[in-house]
Amino acid sequence: MKIASVIVDVPAKQTDKAFDYLVPKQWEDMIQPGMRVIVPFGPRKIQGFVIEVKSTSEVKKLRELVEPMDLEPVLNDELLKLGDWLAENTLSFKIFAFQVMLPAALKAKYEKKVKLAEGVDLSDLPLKLHPYFKNGGMLDWDDAIKNGIVPHLQREAAKGLLEVVYLVKERVKKKQMKFITPLVSKEDLLAEIQRLPANAQKQKQVLEYFISHHHEVEMQKLSAELNVSLSTIKALATKNLLVETEKETYRDPFKDRHFERTGPLPLTEAQKKAITPILHAIQHREHEVFLLYGVTGSGKTEIYLQSIQEVINNGKEAIVLVPEISLTPQMVNRFKGRFGDMVAVLHSGLSAGEKYDEWRKIQRKEVKVVVGARSAIFAPFENIGIIIIDEEHETSYKQEEMPRYHARDVAIKRAQTYNCPVVLGSATPSLESFARAKKKVYQLLSLPVRMNNKALPTVEIVDMREELRAGNRSMFSRKLFELLKDRLEKKQQSVLFLNKRGHSSFVMCRDCGYVVNCPKCDISLTYHRAGVQMKCHYCGYESVVPRACPECNSEYIRFFGTGTQKVEEELGKILPEAKVIRMDVDTTSRKGSHERLLKEFQDGKADILLGTQMIAKGLDFPNITLVGVLSADTMLHLPDFRSSEKTFQLLTQVSGRAGRHQLPGEVIIQTYTPEHYSIQLAGQQDYTQFFQQEMMVRRAHHYPPYYFLTLITVSHEQLLTAVSTTEKIVRYVRSQLSSEAVVLGPSVSPIAKINNRYRYQCLIKYKREPNLTKTLKMILDQYQKEATKDGLLVSVDVNPFILM
Ligand code: ADP
Ligand code: ZN
Ligand code: ZN
Repeated sequence: MKIASVIVDVPAKQTDKAFDYLVPKQWEDMIQPGMRVIVPFGPRKIQGFVIEVKSTSEVKKLRELVEPMDLEPVLNDELLKLGDWLAENTLSFKIFAFQVMLPAALKAKYEKKVKLAEGVDLSDLPLKLHPYFKNGGMLDWDDAIKNGIVPHLQREAAKGLLEVVYLVKERVKKKQMKFITPLVSKEDLLAEIQRLPANAQKQKQVLEYFISHHHEVEMQKLSAELNVSLSTIKALATKNLLVETEKETYRDPFKDRHFERTGPLPLTEAQKKAITPILHAIQHREHEVFLLYGVTGSGKTEIYLQSIQEVINNGKEAIVLVPEISLTPQMVNRFKGRFGDMVAVLHSGLSAGEKYDEWRKIQRKEVKVVVGARSAIFAPFENIGIIIIDEEHETSYKQEEMPRYHARDVAIKRAQTYNCPVVLGSATPSLESFARAKKKVYQLLSLPVRMNNKALPTVEIVDMREELRAGNRSMFSRKLFELLKDRLEKKQQSVLFLNKRGHSSFVMCRDCGYVVNCPKCDISLTYHRAGVQMKCHYCGYESVVPRACPECNSEYIRFFGTGTQKVEEELGKILPEAKVIRMDVDTTSRKGSHERLLKEFQDGKADILLGTQMIAKGLDFPNITLVGVLSADTMLHLPDFRSSEKTFQLLTQVSGRAGRHQLPGEVIIQTYTPEHYSIQLAGQQDYTQFFQQEMMVRRAHHYPPYYFLTLITVSHEQLLTAVSTTEKIVRYVRSQLSSEAVVLGPSVSPIAKINNRYRYQCLIKYKREPNLTKTLKMILDQYQKEATKDGLLVSVDVNPFILM
C-alpha cells in the first residue's frame, strides 16, 4: 500500500498541512514526492503537491488520489525543504511557498500536452505509443488520462524521450493545425463499423476513410473532404479509435540573435584582490557571503563572469539575479557571450511558454547558468556552486505578496545547503548589507575605481527655492533649461529623470523646502486630498495642513507631485524643437515597448529621454552628456524610513548615466532641500559618509539595521472593523512581547483604501523577541478563520521593504 501526503491548493489556515491519500494501484510505481496530483477534497477535485510517499497513515479511512499531473517531479527534495522553510519564515501558506518556485505555465490554466523530447526519434518509442506522436504530433494530457496510457508515458519521460509542454490558450488558437490518426488496426476499424447502428452514417464514413488511408490526416481537411462535422470526428476519438494531435514549434526568445563570444579579460590588481577569496570559497566548497562593493563600471560583472567560469570548471551551476529593469539585451549579451548556450534567461518579457521552456532547460541540466529576476532564485539546479545578486540593494528582490520573501535570504539559505558562496554586488549597498559587512558577518570586497579611470560626471545641485524667488515658476531651473538648449544645439542627448513613486504626496513649502514631518516618526506626513489633513502612516499622528509655512511663514506651502505627462507638455512649450521620448508605465506596458523606445533613443531618433526610475539603470549610450533630475525630493519625502537611502541610491545611479564614454557628462539635480545629506552626499558620490549619517538616523529612531520590523496590515470593508481589529491585534502583540519591543498603531496604511477596503496597520520594532513568531501565528490563526465568513484580511510581512 502506498500513501501520498499532499499539500492541497486551498490557501487557508485549516488546510495548511499535509493530507494523506491512498495511491491507486495503477499509479503506484509512478507517484513521487515533488509531483503535482489531483485529489478529491470535499465534493471537489483539486490540485496538490506530493511531499512524501509512505506506507502507513494515522488516518483510518483514506480517499484515493485521482491522478498525477506530472510525468516527473517538478520540485526536487531540496526545493521541497526550501518550501517548508519559506512558509515558516515568511508565515506563508505552504501551497504558496511551493507554487512560487514554479514557472507560471505550471500554475495557471494552460493546456497541457505531451510531446517527443527535442531530438528524439519516433522509432525510439514503443510501438504502442507511435500513433500519438507521429509527425511531431502532441497528445492532450486529458486524452492521455482517458486512454489510460500515462504510466507508459512516464516510463518514456523518465528516459528523456517524452516531455510535457504547456500552451497558453491564444497560442493554441493561433495555429489550429490539428491532426487525426487511427489508433487501432484496419480490422478493428471494420469491426467497429459493423457494431455501429445503421443511422451512424457519418461515423462509418470516417472509419471507412481510415481503412483506406491508415495514416494521419489534418482534421479540417478530413472534415471538408467527407463533409462531416468536427464533433463526429471527436466522438470517434473519445472511443479511442482515433486520436487528435497538434503541432507546435519550439520557442526560443533568443533564437535570432547572434552573440559575440568573449573570453576572460586579464584582471586588474583590484579585481584580482577581490576575486581571490571568492575563488577560494568555490574551490574549497565553503559557504560565505561576499559583499562586492564597487561603483558602476568598476569591473564587478567581469568578476561574476570569471567566478562562474570557475564554478562551471568544477562541474557546478550558477544562479545570477539582476533587477528586472536591468535585464536588458546588453546585460544578457554579456552572459550569453561568455557562456553561450549554457545560459538560460528568465525575465518578465518572456511569454509563459517561453519561461517554461527556459525552466525546463534548467531542470534537464541543459544549462549551467541562469540569469534572471527575483524568482530565478528558485531555479531547479541540484549542484549549485555560486549565487550572485547584482544590485543587491534593489527593492524588487523582495516579493510583496505571499510568500513575502527576500531573494537575498533565499540565496543564503540555498547556498548553505550547497556549501557555496553568495556574492552580493552593488555600488550603493543596502544599509543592512553594509552594516553586516562591517560586522564581518559578510566579507567586504571593494573595487574602488572605475575600469577606464573615467572621472565621475560633475554634479550640480540646483536650489529650486532660489528659482521661485527669482520669479521662475516652471519645473525647469534656468540652469537646466540652458544646458538642455546647449545639448540640443550640439546634437548631444539628454536624459530627464522624474521620480514618481508611491501613491501619496507630501506637503512642502516651495519657498524654503520645509516638509511637514511626523514629530514622532521622522517621516513625512501624507496629504489626503479628501480633507485638509495630513497623517502619519506609521503611528497615526494627524495634523491639519498649515496655512503658512511654520519655518518661513510663506503661503506657498502645498502638496507636491508631478507626472511625466505634464513634464512632456511643458517641454513642448519651452523647447518645441526638441524630440522627446517618454518612458513610464503608460508608454511601456506593452511587451517589447521598453526595449523599442530605448533603441529609438540609442539610434538618435530623439534628443531627450524623459522617464521614471525605469530609465535609471542600464542606459549606456555614448551620446548622453546631460542628466537632469527634476525633483530629487519626491522620493525623499515618501512616508518610508528608507526614503533617504533610496534617494541616495537613485541619485547616484542616475548620475552614473552621463559621460560614460568619450564625452564628459554633467548632472543637474533640482531640489527644494539642497542641504539634505542624502542629496549632498549623492552629489559628492560619497557612500561611506552617507552610510555613517544614515546609520545614526536609524539608530535614533529604532529602524533597521538596528531593529527588525514586522508589519501587520488589516483590511475590511467597514472602517470600524478594520480599526477595531487592528486595535485588538496591537493590544495582543503588546501583551506577548517584551518591553523592549515598540508596537505602533493602529494607524491608517499609506494606501488607505484599496477596492473599497479600508486598510490599517500595526508596526512592530524589535531586537530579540523569541515569542514573536508564535504570536504572529496566533494572530493569523485567529483572523484567517474569520476571513472566510467576514471578509476580514490580515497579512503579516516580516522584514517589510515597503511599508504600504
Ligand atoms: P560593473 O559590473 O562594475 O559595472 P563591468 O564588469 O561591466 O563593471 O566593467 C566595466 C567595463 O570595463 C566593461 O566594459 C568591461 O568589459 C570592462 N572591463 C572589466 N574588467 C576588465 C579588465 N580586467 N580589463 C579590461 N576591461 C575590463
Ligand atoms: Zn517655508
Ligand atoms: Zn508618526
